[in-house]
Amino acid sequence: MANFPTRRSVLTTGALASLLPLDAALAQVPLNPTPECHDSDTATVRQTEGPFFKPSSPERADLIEPGMAGPPIELVGFVLTLGCRPVPDAVVDLWQADDKGDYDNSGFRLRGHQRADAEGRYRFRTIVPGAYEGRTRHFHVKVAPPGGRLLTTQLYFPGEPKNRKDGLFRRELLMRTAKKKGSLAGRFDFVLDMR
Ligand code: FE
Repeated sequence: MANFPTRRSVLTTGALASLLPLDAALAQVPLNPTPECHDSDTATVRQTEGPFFKPSSPERADLIEPGMAGPPIELVGFVLTLGCRPVPDAVVDLWQADDKGDYDNSGFRLRGHQRADAEGRYRFRTIVPGAYEGRTRHFHVKVAPPGGRLLTTQLYFPGEPKNRKDGLFRRELLMRTAKKKGSLAGRFDFVLDMR
């Protein structure tokens, strides 16, 4: 925890308590900083959804299926308001390329959604997507708060050589990542444009 800034001053006690286990996997090594939620902060940057979104993905946190290639990653974080309050029941919908950079457009491989818990936490277990023609490595995400405006965006990996060459890349959308026992952990908190 000491290696990167936290929102501890603005989070409620309950949310802070839940932040500790969430960050445990990420606290092992220094992490690249990503924008944090502050009272005056702006919402998470919006990005285009691209050509491969499919509605009605399965509700699941684990996208890894038997025989699936690619390094595993656990992606965790909070869904928060501009005031850093959790957004329980926000639907987080993730879709991505496989390790070769291909999307499953006939089925729902590497597609899934889940609801943030009472403290706004979400968690996915998946693989690191492959970069494909013209794009650096990225996840696609839609975050839908109950009764609020949908956020569509993309998440990026720190240290990718292709980040600099991808016109869509935004450093505000970098995950913090850390290696732990050969596996990768990623952290990103979504800040929705709502109070
Ligand atoms: Fe894509």
